[in-house]
Parts: sequence; C-alpha cells; structure tokens
Amino acid sequence: MSERRSLVAANWKMNGSLESIHQLVGAVSQGMSEKTKSEVLICPPFVYIPELARLLAKTDIRLGAQNVSHLESGAYTGEVAPAMLKEFGCEYVIVGHSERRMLYSESDVRVAEKFIAVQANTMIPILCIGELLEERESNNTEEVIARQLDAVIDKAGIQAFKHAVIAYEPVWAIGTGKTATPEQAQEVHEFIRLRLARHDHETAEAIRILYGGSVKADNAKQLFELADIDGGLIGGASLVAEDFLTICHSVR
Ligand code: PEP
Repeated sequence: MSERRSLVAANWKMNGSLESIHQLVGAVSQGMSEKTKSEVLICPPFVYIPELARLLAKTDIRLGAQNVSHLESGAYTGEVAPAMLKEFGCEYVIVGHSERRMLYSESDVRVAEKFIAVQANTMIPILCIGELLEERESNNTEEVIARQLDAVIDKAGIQAFKHAVIAYEPVWAIGTGKTATPEQAQEVHEFIRLRLARHDHETAEAIRILYGGSVKADNAKQLFELADIDGGLIGGASLVAEDFLTICHSVR
C-alpha cells in the first residue's frame, strides 16, 4: 500500500458566477467528513480566487489556480504573476493543461518555465501531460508523454518533482465523456513513474500522479483503486457538488 495521500482537484475552467460558487463551495464543504480521506483542491477562475480564499478559510479544502505567468512582473497585459496567486492563498497551480497547450499555443518549454515560476513562489505545480487521439492511434502515446515530461525534467531538474504533482490527461478524454479504461490509464501512469525513476527512484515513488479526463461519479472508484493512480483532476463533474463529493469519496 502506497503512502501517497490522494488528491482530488477541481478544475472549474471558465465557469461559475458569484452566486453559483457560493452554493457549490457551501455544498462541497458541508459534504466533507471523516469519510474524506483525500486532499481536496479547488482551482477557480482567477477573479474568484479572493472570494474562494475567504470561503475556504475555515474548511480543509485547498485553493489553487488554473494557470499563471512564467514571469514575475512587468508590462504583460492580462497576465497574472505567481506571487499574486501566493498572496491570495493559492497552494497549487495547474500548468500545461491541454487547453492551454492547444488553444493558447503553450510550448513544452513555456510549461517548464511556468512550473519553475510556481515553485519559485513556494507553490506546487500540477503538471498536465497527455496525448492527442491521433497520437494514441499511431502508437505514439509514450513518446509524447516522455517528451512533455523530459522538457520539465531538463529545465527544472528531477529534484523539483519532490514538490510537484503530475496529471495524466489524455486529450481525447477531456470533456468528451470518453474515459480512458483503467488499464490504459494505469499503463501510462506506470510509464510516467518509471520515467522519473530513471533519474531518482525515491522521487518517482513519492510523487502523486492524478488521472484526468471525464472522471465521473460512476467511474472514479475503478480508476482510483489502481496502483499508480493517486487521485484525479476533475473538470465537468467538479461543478456538481454531489458528483464531486462522490469522486472525492472514491479514493482508496
Ligand atoms: C480537465 O479539465 O482537466 C478535465 C479532466 O475535464 P473533464 O473532467 O471535464 O474531462
């Protein structure tokens, strides 16, 4: 049995209103109990971070962000610096989500720079990696995962993974309702851990690797019981309190 504590992270993406987030956070925090073994994290849109910091203050739920600038400050219109997130109580920051890589052209190198900037501000990066459908179909999944992972190992160093989380998110499973089978997910999670172990066995054993991609209340348990899956990054289902709580309570 591994000693890694599970993490279930909500990625609200660009959803919510002041009214809806109050309801959602209220229901999620009320539904947490001694049954909640995993660490629970919410990553709201930037503008709701101060409100969430206030709402979560008396709960065990952690606060994170969905993105961040790789730079510290300056004339970068529309960007948010890591220190600003830290100032408002963020402990985690998602970097390299496939929507950022694809829709905003974030390169492997830029993702690595963001990973480093998050850690430089004593927060924990959640590094997202995952293959496209055509990459899986052409048997290139491992090559893509290795490339995305190595870009960060090369720039940040393996020791940096002592203070990081990885999320394996097959792009074809995000928001599509198509979940990877438990076997497909476990296979890639194991590959990621072995890739890290080539550099440092201890770091590879200790790091939490989350699965993301259409995790729902009715499929979370079979994914979370696998040896190398340490929780989930949850999009759509994190917007419905009951579903999100069921997912949080599905960890081993
Ligand atoms: C995500 O956005 O990281 C995600 C996994 O989304 P969904 O759960 O909706 O597929």
